[in-house]
Amino acid sequence: MRFDVLTLFPEMVLSAVRYGIMGRALDRGIADIRAVNIRDFARGPHRTTDDRPYGGGYGMVMKPGPIFRALESVERIGKGHPVILLSPQGEVFNQRLAWELAELDQLIFVCGRYEGVDERIRDLCIDREISIGDYVLSGGELGALVVMDAVTRLLPDALGGEGSSTEDSFAGGLLEYPHYTRPSVFQGLSVPEVLLSGNHEKIRIWRRKESIRRTRERRPDLMETAEIEPGERPSPAPAGRPRKDEESGSGPGR
Ligand code: SAM
Repeated sequence: MRFDVLTLFPEMVLSAVRYGIMGRALDRGIADIRAVNIRDFARGPHRTTDDRPYGGGYGMVMKPGPIFRALESVERIGKGHPVILLSPQGEVFNQRLAWELAELDQLIFVCGRYEGVDERIRDLCIDREISIGDYVLSGGELGALVVMDAVTRLLPDALGGEGSSTEDSFAGGLLEYPHYTRPSVFQGLSVPEVLLSGNHEKIRIWRRKESIRRTRERRPDLMETAEIEPGERPSPAPAGRPRKDEESGSGPGR
């Protein structure tokens, strides 16, 4: 996967991708990243990349020329290379979109700053607009990093020995089950017995149940579309009484 990130702060992007799974994916050639400094494509003695908004008002707007020329300079490779504008007005990023993007060969990101980019860049160059949530950041770099990180985890061999993205939260539409490690008792809380049993089938069933229970409790909205067999769907609890499996305590025991 090749990432090209158009930004006014290339170092911000390049320094953040050096760590962990993303850093290793870059070292091993699973992913490749180029940061393109938009300022390198600005003209004039001051290499200005922003200007006052037509119509007045506060803030500055990113000029279209430098971004347009920076995009023209990006080599297009492979079968899919959408130009993605990071924007609070875009479709909200989620795991489904991460899977979709991970199928492509190249992602080209445009990171806005100030009040954003001149609208004509949207009209002329942008294939997709992605938001990382309903809040306003100061720039698109953090958004591009979020998308690149989530996509990189899904690339073949990117996780190496560090687990499997097929069990992560949102795989199959569910949140992931809880994890425990040594010691088996910590501050009076023990690891659930089943995880110490060595019985892989029982452990699998327990994790599946926990995954469904957590999703139901924390993100009931996901239950609508989660991949759950009819028999696995918990029946609604009678009002005012905890369900049997909640009483039996699926969390850590004292
Ligand atoms: N004036 C714009 C608006 O209200 O829609 C916000 C501009 S914001 C201060 C500057 C840049 O940060 C945007 O151009 C975009 O690239 C990035 N950005 C801000 N919030 C974002 C979000 N939620 N997701 C992705 N990018 C975001």
